[in-house]
Amino acid sequence: SQLLATVSHELRTPLASIKGFATTLLRQDVTWSEAEQRDFLRIIEDETDRLGEIIDNLLDMSQIEAGALRIEREPTQLRGLVRELVDAMRMRTESHFFDVDLPTELPRVFADPRRVRQVIRNLLDNANKYSKAGQISISCQVDQDFVTVSVSDQGEGIPPQYLSKIFNRFFQVDGKSTRRKGGSGLGLSISRGIIEAHGGKMWAESVLGQGSVFKFTLPLAPNEA
Ligand code: ADP
Repeated sequence: SQLLATVSHELRTPLASIKGFATTLLRQDVTWSEAEQRDFLRIIEDETDRLGEIIDNLLDMSQIEAGALRIEREPTQLRGLVRELVDAMRMRTESHFFDVDLPTELPRVFADPRRVRQVIRNLLDNANKYSKAGQISISCQVDQDFVTVSVSDQGEGIPPQYLSKIFNRFFQVDGKSTRRKGGSGLGLSISRGIIEAHGGKMWAESVLGQGSVFKFTLPLAPNEA
């Protein structure tokens, strides 16, 4: 019932906004300017995307919990993938600067590139969302037969008692402020599920008020030692 309550709340918020703006546009007693109409339609479009995202997340979540997440592993070069995601994130913020630190010889990992992209995008999104400004860094380090990827920010940080809880589904450190920032508390639990399905681990380290680092490991592709 907890799950149902949260899910219906999450779905209702964008739904209410879509309904509200559609009703507003359909009013026959008011004439909206073209600019106003475009603003309302843009909100409807954004909220529809948000509904789609929540549904995708719920589907991923239920597949992970059933142990049925489909991953298609192949030897995957992280370099291009990291660069592409950082470049996309650069376009979305002016208050952050980015540091990418990859070793010159970065062996390929054995992973589903689409899923790894989803994980790194989620960590970069969070770094942006939970830090007002400052540096966002991403680095890769090779340790024997694993690559460790780290994403760090200089944001608000996470209280020590919540460092493991944030990976639980729907958990948000500050329900109110995080809700303003959007998100449904599913991103990290899905990300950890994806990494574990690859045989890797994911965890967080943080100093409150100074920033957070999220790390995960992925196995090297065969013959890449
Ligand atoms: P969402 O961002 O949708 O709330 P996530 O599962 O991605 O959900 O994150 C869960 C919670 O962990 C967030 O609500 C936030 O409280 C905390 N969190 C995640 N990333 C960071 C970060 N980089 N800095 C501080 N807190 C974070």
